[in-house]
Amino acid sequence: MITKNYQKILDEIGDKNKLMAVTKYSEFDDIKEVYDLGHRDFGENRIESLLPKALKAQELGLSDIRWHFIGHIQSKKISKITQVPNLKSVQSLDSIKHMKIFDEKLARPLDFYIQVNTSAEEQKGGLWDSSTVQEFYNAAKELKNINIVGLMTMAAASGLPPRESFQKLVDIRNEIDPNLKLSMGMSGDMKVALELGSDCIRVGSAIFKS
Ligand SMILES: *Cc1c(COP(=O)(O)O)cnc(C)c1O
Repeated sequence: MITKNYQKILDEIGDKNKLMAVTKYSEFDDIKEVYDLGHRDFGENRIESLLPKALKAQELGLSDIRWHFIGHIQSKKISKITQVPNLKSVQSLDSIKHMKIFDEKLARPLDFYIQVNTSAEEQKGGLWDSSTVQEFYNAAKELKNINIVGLMTMAAASGLPPRESFQKLVDIRNEIDPNLKLSMGMSGDMKVALELGSDCIRVGSAIFKS
């Protein structure tokens, strides 16, 4: 079923470099199944799940796998995040304090996305407006190990339509730096995210859970 789901999603997206397979619902065998189809980019939102999966992948010699951390960040867990083998990006950065800790703990530069709250939901992480994102982006330029490559957002589960959230991210990106990538779109709203030019669709349940 996973293989079939994956092929279907890939057909819709048309480019596997735009697809991140989110593995929070999956056991290692499921990840390996998608890896064996030629997929390399995988994301997790909890460090407690990410680290063991990444270590297992390393043990099995999957040396070209790329892991992305997409979850809520806590200061005390930043060291652990930096220890993940084959970590390619952290997409949920929204605190200058956290950014400085990452800069200290990292042995070399890492790709980061600034998380933006485009849905006006209090419980979601992310910066709220373009001037805050701009300040954050400027502060990152002073740090040697923080390489900001894009902006990430999650649409609201209900309320504000995904199109409005994603358009807001596009507008902020265009204002700040047109070279920044856009990480937006999940199982339920990937079509509209693609229409609006997403560079990274993060899909979990539509691959691993249905
Ligand atoms: C879980 C998660 C996803 C994937 O969600 P699905 O609806 O299962 O595709 C994408 N992004 C983040 C930040 C997530 O936590």
